Amino acid sequence: MPDQPKYLQQLNGDLWLIEDERENMKISYRIKEVVFSKSSAFQHVMILDSYDFGRMLVLDGVVQTTSMDGYIYNEMISHIPLSIHPNPKNVLIIGGGDCGAAREAAKYSHVENIDMVEIDEWVVKVCKEYLQEVSGNLSDPRVHFIFDDGIQHVKKYKNHYDVIIVDSSDPIGPAKQLFERSFYQDIYHALKEDGLMVCQSQSPIFHMDVLKQTFGHIQNLFPVTKLYTTTVPTYPGGLWSFTLGSKKYQEIHVNHFDKKTKYVNQAILHSCFNLPEFIQL
Ligand code: SAM
Repeated sequence: MPDQPKYLQQLNGDLWLIEDERENMKISYRIKEVVFSKSSAFQHVMILDSYDFGRMLVLDGVVQTTSMDGYIYNEMISHIPLSIHPNPKNVLIIGGGDCGAAREAAKYSHVENIDMVEIDEWVVKVCKEYLQEVSGNLSDPRVHFIFDDGIQHVKKYKNHYDVIIVDSSDPIGPAKQLFERSFYQDIYHALKEDGLMVCQSQSPIFHMDVLKQTFGHIQNLFPVTKLYTTTVPTYPGGLWSFTLGSKKYQEIHVNHFDKKTKYVNQAILHSCFNLPEFIQL
């Protein structure tokens, strides 16, 4: 293959994706086919067809979501906040280029508007075309794609959104600032006076420093801060965390969860807040 990126390697006649984000650990996936590969203005974007996880979105060599386990993360980052806010009408998603979070948010009929602010138009384009198990080829008219930097977008709004979902990649490259205090401060102001936000706050196994720092930033701004977890097989360590900051609401208000999902159910809306001893903050 011409200009094959370093994280795709031929080993004994097979093609492998070698994720080598960590110094002392490499995660490898045997690949059937490179469906799409291109360097955008922001990152290297690939859709790979893997043997065990089906199609994958890979950004700069790091697996973001797959057709096999993407629903777990996307359902957890969307349905938890949308089951705590009693009447969300105006939703903002920052990042989330695979469109999975927007697809879940669109399941709420009382949501009137979903702004999806993704820095890299190519991620949305390729996920709509080649990763429809995750994106659902989203064409709901309430979803407005805005191709911009989420950091700049939130600065423009005050008292505007009911729920903000920060569905970012890891804190490197264009997503680095999405983990900084000033960004959460701007989010706080962009939310209505009873608004709430959630972000993915990385692995409690490998990124406890990032998790604690993110939780701390949000706790310093919002009267209600909560941490919840789920398990995503393709994320390093498996266990993954989300931090929720709310100006007012803190309890799950849904008594009968009625959305068509593959992972979230009524019991999980509550049990996800039960934390193992080592991540009690
Ligand atoms: N579920 C994934 C995970 O945790 O690995 C993240 C999904 S999503 C693909 C992350 C998206 O955030 C990427 O498409 C990336 O382009 C986007 N992104 C990164 N930095 C951004 C920024 N500053 N503003 C808006 N989108 C950003």
